[in-house]
Amino acid sequence: MRIAIIGDGISGLHLALRLRQLGIDVTLFGAKSPEAVRHGRALNFVARSGSTRRREELLGLDLWASPDTLAEARTVTVHGPEPLTFRADPDPAYSMVDFRLYLPAVVEEYLARGGRHIVTDLTARTAHEAAADHDLVVVAGGRAAGELFPRDPGRSPFDAPQRVLCGGLYRGIGETVPHSIEFHVVPGVGEVLRMPFHCAEGRVDVLGLEAVPGGPLDPLCRTPYAEDPAHFHSVVLDVLHRYVPDLRERVDERAFGLNRPADLVQGGVVPVVRRAWRALTGTTYALAVGDAWIVNDPITAQGANLGSHCALELAEAIAAGPPYDEAFCRAAEERMWPYAESVVQWTAAFVRPPSPQLLSLFRAADADPAVAAAFAVNFDDPPAMWRSIASPERTAAFLAEVRSGATPPEGSAVSSTPDSASAAAGTSRTQPWADLTARPS
Ligand SMILES: Cc1cc2nc3c(=O)[nH]c(=O)nc-3n(C[C@H](O)[C@H](O)[C@H](O)COP(=O)(O)OP(=O)(O)OC[C@H]3O[C@@H](n4cnc5c(N)ncnc54)[C@H](O)[C@@H]3O)c2cc1C
Repeated sequence: MRIAIIGDGISGLHLALRLRQLGIDVTLFGAKSPEAVRHGRALNFVARSGSTRRREELLGLDLWASPDTLAEARTVTVHGPEPLTFRADPDPAYSMVDFRLYLPAVVEEYLARGGRHIVTDLTARTAHEAAADHDLVVVAGGRAAGELFPRDPGRSPFDAPQRVLCGGLYRGIGETVPHSIEFHVVPGVGEVLRMPFHCAEGRVDVLGLEAVPGGPLDPLCRTPYAEDPAHFHSVVLDVLHRYVPDLRERVDERAFGLNRPADLVQGGVVPVVRRAWRALTGTTYALAVGDAWIVNDPITAQGANLGSHCALELAEAIAAGPPYDEAFCRAAEERMWPYAESVVQWTAAFVRPPSPQLLSLFRAADADPAVAAAFAVNFDDPPAMWRSIASPERTAAFLAEVRSGATPPEGSAVSSTPDSASAAAGTSRTQPWADLTARPS
């Protein structure tokens, strides 16, 4: 059997490496050579979770183990009239390596193991051509490649970006807690994320601003950089001063600035769940994985981790053997969806105005380190996270379990269709800002 994988991001690469480990013939298609990816613009700033790192161990990837690439601590701060802050340290640590280093290195590792890699357009034409001499085509080409699969309106919580993003790699920002991620929530305004990051020039910091569309941060996130870098920097410093003053105090103005012009990502992501599969010919099917299937707002840092999770699930399904027909595609989707749904629901809950139960969970974490620690564990366990915040009753049960010292029970993800009120909230916002689907070359 021969499997084509269209896309060599984390989803396509983890799938390709696993299939080869399982003895399956793979052709991996990518849009650029490893060298071109290394010298391109930033498209994202990915924190890889402990679960993803464990999968990398299984795949025999041991590329960045240095402590400089890891974050062992995380603080969550809610600003505003009822401020609170708590530590929710990841264990194991997260790894933060620029995908312009990570992806080419993994492609080169795949090639070193004898893998086949073809540089071409990641378009529908490539998928159709691949169908001629492969038994299954897996589309892992990211958001743009997803257009091959129609949006699933019943599963998609929104139809417009829920945040205006302005994320970049900066110099001159200090940390209170070494190797820490800090996540600031400013109700009604948006979020500010700072985290250490390893890029080609070494250690920098990601500063991610996520503005509620139409809110006070929105126009600031659209400030162009290239026209007037000094003005851009002064706007960013002003945002920090206004909304996260403790972070502003840690900025050394003489050293502060964007690492390079290509290290800035601005725009919006439309959260979407697409149909997971379609027929390409009478007998050959295409299955979507990663962002080609599901796009989440980056607020919960789940997209790449979900892509990796689904890639390994799909590898096991493929390894069970052909036929890779419609029944196979349905079964593969059913296998991946419960976990993926919990990411979609949790992320939707984080971009909506915080629910009373989420605020009560944050308050409990502020008061009790055991709750904060349990919340931290859930960050790398989306079904558990969604169970703990899905409803006031679920949150109460989660808090009771933590306080009693019991381990919260394992179970399936809480399933719920997005309610019409929230869906309407997603559609009612006008969104003139270009979405990030159109990738810069
Ligand atoms: C600002 C931002 C921050 C994010 N932060 C996180 C996070 O912390 N944790 C998390 O899990 N997810 C995060 N995400 C989401 C994550 O980037 C995607 O979900 C993930 O990359 C999807 O992987 P994929 O393989 O399915 O598709 P893609 O990554 O889109 O890959 C598809 C194709 O694009 C190419 N490609 C991908 N990245 C690059 C690049 N940098 N340069 C050139 N080509 C590239 C690949 O080679 C591949 O052929 C973030 C996204 C954004 C926009």
